Amino acid sequence: MNNDIERILFDEEQIQTRVAELAAQITNDYQGKRPVIVSVLTGAVLFTVDLIKKIDLYAEMDFVDVSSYYGGTASSGTVKLLHDLKHSIAGKDVIIVEDIVDTGRTLKFLMELLEGRGATSIKVCTFFDKPAGREVEVATDYVGFDVPHEFLVGYGLDYENYYRNLPYVGVLKPEVYQKNDD
Ligand code: 5GP
Ligand code: MG
Ligand code: MG
Repeated sequence: MNNDIERILFDEEQIQTRVAELAAQITNDYQGKRPVIVSVLTGAVLFTVDLIKKIDLYAEMDFVDVSSYYGGTASSGTVKLLHDLKHSIAGKDVIIVEDIVDTGRTLKFLMELLEGRGATSIKVCTFFDKPAGREVEVATDYVGFDVPHEFLVGYGLDYENYYRNLPYVGVLKPEVYQKNDD
């Protein structure tokens, strides 16, 4: 699996350092509050687990699953809800935790879904942001790293549901895509 990676963008240490910084920021910003961490399956799970362990607050954890990419490397442009939250967010301070924001369509869909449910506040924490890919306007409150407009894998990010378990983030060799295209 490691042989499929052309270039590493962020190693494990860089990732964990940045996660700790984000967790400290959230802990500070939410003093006296009990935020609900809404993690977006499946990509954001690795980030969410690392982040929530470092947030020093009473924090709830819940999950939504949406699909927009359907396994490929280009956005299909449509978003579908596959799994809804387990708990009500009415009167709660919600933090949506995402792996990466590219076109912004997934996040916009989620914001619209959750906005009508009476949350006190909704903020967004994404580990990666690709500003160059943006097609719809969305606000990101906490960002781990801005990244170039390339297809990344690792630390939750997949190609055809593989590579999520890489502890670092990198770019795949072109032949990996070519092999699967024919
Ligand atoms: P958006 O709706 O903002 O275009 O894309 C959001 C979702 O697309 C992310 O949550 C992620 O699942 C997927 N995605 C966007 N960019 C990348 C990328 O570089 N690598 C991988 N593996 N998934 C991506
Ligand atoms: Mg995602
Ligand atoms: Mg994916």
